[in-house]
Amino acid sequence: MVATTRPKIEAGRHPLIKNLSSPESRYRMTVAIPSPSGERLVPASVRGQIVHVSCPDWCVVDHAAADEHHLEDVSHLGKQLSMTAPVGLTGSEDVLVAHVSQWPFSGETHPYLALDATGCGEFSELTKVQALAFADQLVAHAAQLRALAASITD
Ligand SMILES: [Zn+2]
Repeated sequence: MVATTRPKIEAGRHPLIKNLSSPESRYRMTVAIPSPSGERLVPASVRGQIVHVSCPDWCVVDHAAADEHHLEDVSHLGKQLSMTAPVGLTGSEDVLVAHVSQWPFSGETHPYLALDATGCGEFSELTKVQALAFADQLVAHAAQLRALAASITD
């Protein structure tokens, strides 16, 4: 969940701002003002000091809550996904753990797909092209797995 600490303008205190979520309002709405590049300016805490960093829409980090030691430690992380796979006769393991990641102040300017294929905790860093190619391989593998399963006679 992303939380921003932008100063709030209370309805009624500013002549141009109306309380859109009040019962008398015809519509309830949330207003987001994205930048043209799909990023927003959010507060981040670095050694207890608040700085504002550009944060992509896919990032779920509360940068103000995560007090980093250095600006280079500020990273953007997207929502993580995984799949539970059976292991052995009774176990299971989260595999194909993936999220989008970016370390904008450490020299890496482009986001990448962080992928832990086996659930061991070690992530590979895939470019968009590599991630899409891997996803295509997964789709093909799933089709072969489905065909194998279908070949089992009852
Ligand atoms: Zn972010």
